[in-house]
Amino acid sequence: MIISNKIRCNNCGEVIESMHVHDYVPCMCGEVAVDGGRAYLKRSGNNYTEMSLSDKSPYDQVRKAYFIVVSNEGLTRKSLSDLTDTELESVGKFGKIHHLLLKEKQYRASSRTSELLDKYYEL
Ligand SMILES: [Zn+2]
Repeated sequence: MIISNKIRCNNCGEVIESMHVHDYVPCMCGEVAVDGGRAYLKRSGNNYTEMSLSDKSPYDQVRKAYFIVVSNEGLTRKSLSDLTDTELESVGKFGKIHHLLLKEKQYRASSRTSELLDKYYEL
């Protein structure tokens, strides 16, 4: 599963990302381009550094790169890491991303536990 579809151009240094299937994004010098969004990784040119993430990538990177649309006050794009606990609960019904939402809950629970342990050791 693709989380983010992006590369860095080795010529101009720009980082470009394709956000959806037909989102063709060239870099500013025109040497490389990305396309395909989360559906497939399409590249033009070959002078680039791969920066894409999949759901197998380290989770602390995935949670900042995976965006969900929340509809509390209008539509807002938020990364998993920026969702409030309430939003995390309310978006929990989508099948395809369900395992990521579970992972986010586990991540939060375990970081809370380690915060508590840190406090304990400070005493
Ligand atoms: Zn470029």
